[in-house]
Amino acid sequence: MNILEKLNSIKSQEMTAKENVENYIKVIEEKNEKINAFIDLNKEQAITKAEEIDNKIANGEEVGALAGLVFGIKANINVEDFTISAASKTLEDYIGSYDATVVKRIKEADGIIIGINNMDEFAAGSSCETSYYGKVDNPAAPGRIPGGSSGGSAAAVAAEMCDIAIGSDTGGSIRNPSSHCGVYGFKPTYGGVSRQGLLDLSMSLDQIGPMARDVSGIALALDTIVGYDPTECTTLRLDLDFAKAVEEGKADKPLAGMKVAICSDFKDVTDDNINNIIDVGVAKLEALGAEIVEVDFKYIDLCLPTYYLINYVEFFSATRKYDGRKYGSRIEEVCGDEVLRRIKMGSYISQQEFSGKYYKKALQSRTLIRNEVNAMLEDVDLIVGPTVPKLPHKLGEELEPMEMYAYDVLTVIANLAGIPAASIPAGDVDGIPVGLQIQAKPEDDLKIIKAMSAFENAE
Ligand code: GLN
Repeated sequence: MNILEKLNSIKSQEMTAKENVENYIKVIEEKNEKINAFIDLNKEQAITKAEEIDNKIANGEEVGALAGLVFGIKANINVEDFTISAASKTLEDYIGSYDATVVKRIKEADGIIIGINNMDEFAAGSSCETSYYGKVDNPAAPGRIPGGSSGGSAAAVAAEMCDIAIGSDTGGSIRNPSSHCGVYGFKPTYGGVSRQGLLDLSMSLDQIGPMARDVSGIALALDTIVGYDPTECTTLRLDLDFAKAVEEGKADKPLAGMKVAICSDFKDVTDDNINNIIDVGVAKLEALGAEIVEVDFKYIDLCLPTYYLINYVEFFSATRKYDGRKYGSRIEEVCGDEVLRRIKMGSYISQQEFSGKYYKKALQSRTLIRNEVNAMLEDVDLIVGPTVPKLPHKLGEELEPMEMYAYDVLTVIANLAGIPAASIPAGDVDGIPVGLQIQAKPEDDLKIIKAMSAFENAE
């Protein structure tokens, strides 16, 4: 039963929302101690909400588009009455005082929020090893990192602790853990989903999006959370029908007429065993009707320096409000190494005498990358390739910062260019999941969903 079918069975009373919640609570109680995907839970509230929904259905009252589905929310997105710590000691005592726009919309649609997912501290990481609340294990490849920074979200979905998780993606944080944990993850066009209520990592790159075990779950979440928000000035007036795009992906030869590009510059930085799986995925897209073409990307070497420079500066600025006066501890005094590195680097780069030297250059380089990506996409509908160039390392293995950053080389491109991008499960190397990344032009989010649906359906 996929998530849409489950929703329909709740609405038609074949299953109750309460059963759905209780099933997940059982799994959480069994597995969360080891996996550490949830760092705050409110089981009683979830059961009460489920009972309310079941009552409405039994009384023939109308219910919302997510009625009875169970959500996990990343610890950097405000949810009233939960601890919203961004997995940092700095904010361990901060209780969400309001609902972020995405959360408000999920609640209005009768989605049930069961808890808060673990993550890399302040979303600054690719492994989920830097949380103040401890590391997260990968349910699909136990003993390995789940990826990051939304690693708790991906792990919760993969371990069947919730239907859908809402994460954030600044340089790959939805797609990277989705790839490593073998689930679907979607980063919408920049501005597609309101960031109101998100604790910024790097605000010009941050985007909220969903993760789920199937495409129907991704589409249900997007149909609820995508759209204009008058309280957030970067949101776009997008009016997209994701459920319809899922159906279109189930037609005969659904990708006929679509041009799908592959790029050897992405392959060159990727492990062979991952490339082999991607090649099989591309052949599958071709069999679904897509025309496969090749494109070049000149700036692969510029992506990580550009991304991290912008990230350091914007993160440094975002952290100035954590000065200890409101929440108890000054961030620099209690944060982990990676967060401290970014604050120090961001502070250094931000000093007036250096601004023209580094930050301005990074912005120029970002424009170059964005123009090149737009040029690549001009004559094609989609670009496909690996999501992450390496397999997830074993928990406990120590990586140098640059080795950690190297995980992000293929995902930061979409954030720098503001384009939509998804990761879908494409296969595995000795049981370790590998994700295929699909990218499209800004506002072409539906083309990605259609291809995801086609790919899923062809299995
Ligand atoms: N791994 C990248 C970083 O450390 C991306 C993080 C994210 O998308 N939040 O910045």
